[in-house]
Amino acid sequence: QGIWRLSKLAVSVKNDPGKDFLHIHIGLLQEIAKVLEFPVASLLPEEAFSVVRKSFDARKILKEAKFVYTVDMDVSKLLSLEPRTWDFISRLDPKVGLIEHMPRERISRDLTSIIRDFKDSNGALSREQGRNIDSGESHKCSTVRKPRIAIVGSGPSGLFASLVLAEFGADVTLIERGQAVERRGRDIGALVVRKILESESNFCFGEGGAGTWSDGKLVTRIGRNTDCVLTVMNTLVHFGAPKSILVDGKPHLGTDRLVPLLRNFRQHLQSLGVDIRFGMRVDDLLIQNGHVVGVEVSDSTNKLKSDCKKLGFDAVILAVGHSARDIYQMLLSHNVDLIPKDFAVGLRVEHPQELINNIQYSALANEVCSGRGKVPVADYKVVQYVSDKDKNSPLKSESTNRSCYSFCMCPGGQVVLTSTSPSEICINGMSFSRRASRFANAALVVTVSTKDFDALNFHGPLAGVEFQREFEQRAAIMGGGNFVVPVQTVSDFMDNKVSVTSMPSSSYRLGVKAASLHELFPIYMTDALHYSIAMFDKELPGFISKEALLHGVETRTSSPIQIPRDSDTYESMSLRGLYPVGEGAGYAGGIVSAAVDGMYSGFSVAQKLGLFHGDI
Ligand code: FAD
Repeated sequence: QGIWRLSKLAVSVKNDPGKDFLHIHIGLLQEIAKVLEFPVASLLPEEAFSVVRKSFDARKILKEAKFVYTVDMDVSKLLSLEPRTWDFISRLDPKVGLIEHMPRERISRDLTSIIRDFKDSNGALSREQGRNIDSGESHKCSTVRKPRIAIVGSGPSGLFASLVLAEFGADVTLIERGQAVERRGRDIGALVVRKILESESNFCFGEGGAGTWSDGKLVTRIGRNTDCVLTVMNTLVHFGAPKSILVDGKPHLGTDRLVPLLRNFRQHLQSLGVDIRFGMRVDDLLIQNGHVVGVEVSDSTNKLKSDCKKLGFDAVILAVGHSARDIYQMLLSHNVDLIPKDFAVGLRVEHPQELINNIQYSALANEVCSGRGKVPVADYKVVQYVSDKDKNSPLKSESTNRSCYSFCMCPGGQVVLTSTSPSEICINGMSFSRRASRFANAALVVTVSTKDFDALNFHGPLAGVEFQREFEQRAAIMGGGNFVVPVQTVSDFMDNKVSVTSMPSSSYRLGVKAASLHELFPIYMTDALHYSIAMFDKELPGFISKEALLHGVETRTSSPIQIPRDSDTYESMSLRGLYPVGEGAGYAGGIVSAAVDGMYSGFSVAQKLGLFHGDI
């Protein structure tokens, strides 16, 4: 009885349906039969099996690229087999690495159903009670007033915090300086086509946060199988993401899927009574006796800023992302602790996708077919440790060891402008679900720390922000303005010369200009990039190419600061009633980890404000 997990089931490309992630097909049944030592694969009942994970493995050490599955087998569903074939079950032997007995079922519930079940069995403040409180009948069930909570920012962290708190019956106002996805889409269109940058509605600001017009990769380093990540993934499915994200080894949504998902998310929050204010910016915190009691807001579409309003709240969750530099400044003015944090900066490299497919897949590259084929559009991940101890290292005069690594790789994607000010250039990558563009881009970044900020005379809590801004401004000047991005072919970067001859085309739509990117950064960074790119070319022969274009600059890989908070309550260590969450606060680095952080902060605040008791 029970669930048995079968892993490392390898199916050849020929025998696999490719992008169908959940289907128990005959090729897979054959592999399952082999592991189970069951004689006739076609007799195995499909309904006894479910795919837990499917990845594509094209590592060079393999003779042949394969799809690799992990499958759960529900033994009770094998009962349809003839009794004499039952023998094989009694012979099942949990062989190391292939068969494992699962003590419990995988979590397959979304956040809403988890909270509703919890409330049903634990007597949390019910919605009925909430309504009675609102209608002045509080004496009948509780003397507690419905807590009023402001959530600032509608990125993944703000949305998940809102969902938890609204499900627990709090009075939630979600304040977003940018616009809802419909209008934000038009603003981004105007930026890409007509070079009009709306400072409050762009690739960073607006519904869904920085992750909306993104690649929508849902890979995370915080543990793919942890309950919190599975809950976030199931919640995304609940709001319209395809179920394949639950099993895909490298789940990916793409902007075209994120936009409708966010619309569903919004409608659900509104049905719970969340007051969502788009185009409203938090400019300041209202503080009384060392406790946040509300926020000062203004209409972000009104450039005159004369219309500020004060709104009172019991708690403020700050989920503003790491591009809200004005918020960091405002926090400093209230003496909120901010600690500079190490991060990484560099360039974004773009190759023809075909080149990357060829490097990674060789003969199989034809199977990619612009995202429509069987095998996924090829990606890569490279990392190089640059140590002063290594005799070939360029860091001879330095005592700092660094890493140079690829980051946020977007196969079949495009390079986009993520600046929020016209005097700065910073870029990132996005894609659509099919990843059908003919370009593959990725950040190539080098780690930097406070020592590097000091060397450029940037000190204090916002030194990292100043460091970012310095290179964003240098890039804008190198590009010559009007959002034109400075570029150099990888070959020319390696030869320290400007790309004067014909340059490959770029997916970046606002214009590129040949420039000396090898002179953009301090020498230690250029050297680290130079050295690492040479090593990457050994791993991925062809990486150094005249067809590959480096774009400057990629600066906002993660937050340059952290806002210290209590690890249990999520409350700021220096200002009561303020809950800093997500990437901007330095506690997340990506869509999923930001969502998880927002979710946990929601639970903490709900518990602190008495919306539920016990452990969820
Ligand atoms: P954000 O998503 O940054 O959201 C913060 C929100 O707060 C914004 O909507 C902003 O408008 C709002 N806000 C800021 N200040 C105020 C204010 N004063 N008042 C009101 N509202 C305010 N991550 C991945 O995991 N996978 C990817 O494929 C991926 N691709 C990316 C591509 C691009 C182009 C970019 C820019 C980022 C990408 N990321 C990706 C990173 C990911 O988007 C972030 O890690 C994630 O969105 C952080 O979530 P967050 O909720 O902490 O903050």
